[in-house]
Amino acid sequence: MPSPVEIEIVPCLSDNYAYLVKTGDVCAVVDPSEPEPVRAALAKRGWTLTHILNTHHHLDHTGGNLTLKEETGAVVVGPAKDAARIPGIDSGVEEGSDWSLGDHKVQVLEVPAHTRGAITFVIDGHAFTGDTLFTLGCGRLFEGDAAMMWASLSKLMKLPDDTKIWCGHEYTQSNGRFALSIEPGNQALKARMDEVNAQRAVGKPTVPATLGLEKQTNPFLRPDSAEIRKSLGMENQDTVAVFHEIRERKNNF
Ligand code: ZN
Ligand code: FE
Repeated sequence: MPSPVEIEIVPCLSDNYAYLVKTGDVCAVVDPSEPEPVRAALAKRGWTLTHILNTHHHLDHTGGNLTLKEETGAVVVGPAKDAARIPGIDSGVEEGSDWSLGDHKVQVLEVPAHTRGAITFVIDGHAFTGDTLFTLGCGRLFEGDAAMMWASLSKLMKLPDDTKIWCGHEYTQSNGRFALSIEPGNQALKARMDEVNAQRAVGKPTVPATLGLEKQTNPFLRPDSAEIRKSLGMENQDTVAVFHEIRERKNNF
């Protein structure tokens, strides 16, 4: 029997999330923005850090790497294709890299567009998507175009529907307001936003969400929705064109 996986959400900076992922004797932190909250979360749980995983190079996901590595000797794992931009990297991984965290195989998916090296780690049904797929949103296209991001999101959409999505920021509520503006008739979205608003009113995180729920409610996974297409006046355009327009509208929302 493999050891169970436990996850602790670690709020960092103003709206970032790092995550502790503990299984057996190993404990990884995903995207440590800064060392202090990670240290405090480790102390609270009595866990010893062994790995640092980075989904992409941005400072709000890697800012804690060097200090935490120095303090704990943890191994830094990140995208091989972006090794030059990952502070302290020890092990570069790419799609198909076969490695394990404790008893659990880790699946690496290359999902470029927010950054060209962006990856998602999937561990025991938990997907750490960084700034590629957000709950009710998607990352900005800093190093890729709409077609590249759509391909990356389509890759994530092939994971099982019960996959839990743990993303890099608490953006769900503002993402949801945008989502409702272009798909106001989506009942699943309305119900989800009622829940999100209640969670945020008492300061609770809105992660994780299942991929299945994202498919029903996240406009960036729904460029083929008839209602969204009608809202945008793009009934007959191709999927990438609609996706691109959704991204543009969100940039200006
Ligand atoms: Zn980022
Ligand atoms: Fe970020």
